[in-house]
Amino acid sequence: MTLDLNINDLTRVVAADREHVWHHLSQHKQYETIDPRVFVEGKGMKLWDATGREFLDAVSGGVWTVNVGYGRESIANAVRDQLIKLNYYAGAAGTVPGALFAQRLIEKMPGMSRVYYSNSGSEANEKVYKMVRQISARHYGGAKQKILYRDRDYHGTTLGTLATSGQGQRAAQYGPYPDGFVMVPHCLEYRAQWNVENYGERAADAIEEVILREGPDTVGAIVLEPVTAGGGVITPPEGYWQRVQEICRKYNILLHIDEVVCGLGRTGTWFGYQQYGIEPDFVTMAKGVASGYAAISCTVTTERVFDMFKDAPEDGMSYFRDISTFGGCTAGPVAALENMRIIEDENLLENCTRMGERVMANLNALMEKHSVIGDVRGKGLFCGAELVADRKTKEPMDEKKVQAVVADCLAQGVIIGATNRSMEGLNNTLTLSPALIATADDIDRITDAMDGALTRVFS
Ligand code: PMP
Repeated sequence: MTLDLNINDLTRVVAADREHVWHHLSQHKQYETIDPRVFVEGKGMKLWDATGREFLDAVSGGVWTVNVGYGRESIANAVRDQLIKLNYYAGAAGTVPGALFAQRLIEKMPGMSRVYYSNSGSEANEKVYKMVRQISARHYGGAKQKILYRDRDYHGTTLGTLATSGQGQRAAQYGPYPDGFVMVPHCLEYRAQWNVENYGERAADAIEEVILREGPDTVGAIVLEPVTAGGGVITPPEGYWQRVQEICRKYNILLHIDEVVCGLGRTGTWFGYQQYGIEPDFVTMAKGVASGYAAISCTVTTERVFDMFKDAPEDGMSYFRDISTFGGCTAGPVAALENMRIIEDENLLENCTRMGERVMANLNALMEKHSVIGDVRGKGLFCGAELVADRKTKEPMDEKKVQAVVADCLAQGVIIGATNRSMEGLNNTLTLSPALIATADDIDRITDAMDGALTRVFS
């Protein structure tokens, strides 16, 4: 069967979608009056839907994923060749792309050592939680099993990872959750909880307060996003990470950095944690690892963590009792290898940093013009503009109006996002996360569309 479809076929495809597909994060009642959008083709930063409309994608596939852009034949060819050579063997054995990608990845992550493969961000994070629990069971008599997570951060959709959701609405209807997950305050200075000068250190000290309340001997790990994504694009305040690191060392708490959005390259370095001098014990990644060309996620650990799972072979409980049927085989790592080569050969980290500065300059200019923008935040091509009803009170903008801005941009052919899932669930931050190949013209077109949309919605 060929997927080269004409417009009649496409009409049937849209009908089939409407009849049979249950879309993620979607209220299907809307499809009683409108058609679901079905995308057909992508090239670079551009997308075409089933009606033939062209879009400039400023959110890399909707959820900050397609970092090297659409239509990369070299990735498709590498995957094709590998699938013909060897499509699969279970992860208890190695494969050529699995070994080579792990080596290349560790080269980019000084201090880290081992790669455990799975298929999604949730899964990669869940692996860490299981590792932490097993370390507690075997090395601390089961005492150090609590895992801290942060208000506004998100780590996935499984019951385990939802137990660490700092975004209340996502988790609200799916409990009860497993025990032992404890929330710490967020570090968003714009919505400051403390009136102090050194806000970063104060926000980190709030983590220490939770640790002392819970008992340091009961806390095994903390999971944090380096720059919070869905919680509203939250860049850390000065001094935050240094203090977090000190606190983790002081209480022997393993530091798990969730790079599912920031890796690879989104902030202008391979990983977000590398922007802030963090030395993690666990790093998880998924979306940008193969830019959506194949499903792959990685849980990366230090040799120190890995060593805690080594014991006499006859002890059947010491090794990590976990499997992921498709994890690491073989389309994922081969796509990831080629994705990494493209990022290097096309200097996309440098481009990301340069274009990110342009986005921030443009957003700051928009903030001067539009009083509904209360705050602008970002690192690399990972940026957000928080909309407020009133700059003084910082009352979040009505979500319907925020969505109207997104819809207006879409009508102009530019796809932007809106997020900020705080515990209250208000999505009042416009988000931009274009592919790392974005040009100055692309960036200007995106922010011009936002300018027009803000003018129309709020005039
Ligand atoms: N962590 C973060 C920071 C994420 O943004 C996401 C997905 N949006 C996940 C984990 C979960 O990834 P997945 O949807 O691949 O399970």
